[in-house]
Amino acid sequence: MSPRSDDVRRYLRQNQELFGDELFLDLKSQNVLTSKNNNTDLSSFEKEIFVCQKCSLGSTRSKFVFGVGDPDASLLLVGEAPGAEEDKKGEPFVGRAGKLLDKILTAIGRSREKDVYICNVLKCRPPNNRDPLRSEVEQCELYLLHQIRLIKPSLILALGRVAGQTLLNVDKSLKSLRNTFHDYHGTPLMVTYHPAALLRNPDLKRPTWDDFKIVKEFLEKKN
Ligand code: URA
Repeated sequence: MSPRSDDVRRYLRQNQELFGDELFLDLKSQNVLTSKNNNTDLSSFEKEIFVCQKCSLGSTRSKFVFGVGDPDASLLLVGEAPGAEEDKKGEPFVGRAGKLLDKILTAIGRSREKDVYICNVLKCRPPNNRDPLRSEVEQCELYLLHQIRLIKPSLILALGRVAGQTLLNVDKSLKSLRNTFHDYHGTPLMVTYHPAALLRNPDLKRPTWDDFKIVKEFLEKKN
């Protein structure tokens, strides 16, 4: 099936947002419009951006942390930004919090290889794990948006207050952001506690589990 002209227009507009006025025409990735081969699309996108120097984090990072998981996942988990271990390894959520996240995913019958994709709002570690700056988010969120266009998840789950506030562009408490389906550029988005918060405060495990049960039910109904 050939792409419709409004798809082409949208694609070119997105490219302009991502790559500026210099037209990005990688023939292999033209199949963004038509292909089901998301793995190829995602990895060619990663190859385009892993050298990013759009903000100062480009010069302080060890590794660019693009994301991992199933390129056709129905569930996209989005954290805030890589921490020290992720920066070293180039993979999101590989520290203690990541191990806990893996356990939670197993409990809902998923894993980072099975119907889940994991990434962060920022692809590079902010020094000393400080919160992302607005200017960094403005640059990096375009990458996230393109990942979402390729993966087409049924649901996005923002992990933690900072990810939730940043994606929804609101200054509300995590408590008030939970238990609601928000909209993120046309995709339903929920917010839950960050797994690192569960390590600090085990009382948060119960409400987090409640959120994951809602996620599971939502995705089961979608299928
Ligand atoms: N915290 C995050 O938000 N993301 C990671 O990748 C690791 C820790």
